[in-house]
Amino acid sequence: MKLANPYYKSFFSISFIFCLIFTLSPNSSAKPAFDENRAYEYLKKQCAFGPRPPGSESHKKTRDYLASELKKYANSVILQDFTYKGNGKDIKLTNIIAVFGPETKKKLMLCAHWDTRPFADRDPNPEKLNIPIIGANDGASGVAVLLELARAFYKEKPPFRVIIVLFDGEDYGKSTQDMFLGSKYFAQNIRTEWIPEYGILLDMIGDKNLDIYIEQNSLENAPEIVKKVWELAKRLGFKEFHNKIGYNIVDDHIQLIKKGIPCIDIIDFDYPYWHTLGDTIDKCSPKSLGIIGRLLIELIYQYEND
Ligand SMILES: [Zn+2]
Repeated sequence: MKLANPYYKSFFSISFIFCLIFTLSPNSSAKPAFDENRAYEYLKKQCAFGPRPPGSESHKKTRDYLASELKKYANSVILQDFTYKGNGKDIKLTNIIAVFGPETKKKLMLCAHWDTRPFADRDPNPEKLNIPIIGANDGASGVAVLLELARAFYKEKPPFRVIIVLFDGEDYGKSTQDMFLGSKYFAQNIRTEWIPEYGILLDMIGDKNLDIYIEQNSLENAPEIVKKVWELAKRLGFKEFHNKIGYNIVDDHIQLIKKGIPCIDIIDFDYPYWHTLGDTIDKCSPKSLGIIGRLLIELIYQYEND
């Protein structure tokens, strides 16, 4: 009887360890929930700082807020500071890079821009064309989804490495020469360990009336990724994703494509408040953020992990 005791003990502890290993193995990551209301809070929080164009006080505060929020959830956060010389001024910009999950060969990049446009150059009121916009949809929406995903990645580790990049200076200039400053800098200074299999850019995905069409440059340069994402959206019953080609959009994804990284842009360009003072939180909804968030959770924990 006395001998049996240690035998049972070791049997139970061995099976316990097996169960533990099985539960913790990367291929068995449970799918975390995506809280769309929390994502919407992240959108409101950014807008509460006011317009966030480079060079402003609110830009600095937002930078610090985003970095501290990501630091709660990521393996590591890198602040990639750089200076852009435009119009005789030195503009301080920062890309925020956050790394999640185990160190695997497979890597996925999720990105969005966090700055907002310094002027409402498409506002219907000609007297307001030089006022900076709040950018609830154009700026805050993509970041809001990525912040809530960061929280989900912390709760349930993704099965492979995921890198979130928040680009600065996307909407800075009047012409494309002075735009996409963060993604340009990032692509030119990318570290080998950040190079993903592919990237997904989120831009203007908070619109209450969400309609996502296939963006032309994404289809031309990363057709497999477009196919994957749109098939998944169909499988999930997301009618907001239309299996039709929409606009041809120059956005941060072009800089990654130029660097040889396939990247698609998930963007709803049918937004009447684009680059106007009307781009405010009431035009966005938790539901729209939830659709994009749940799609990405499904992609990472299920589709890419099968
Ligand atoms: Zn914009």
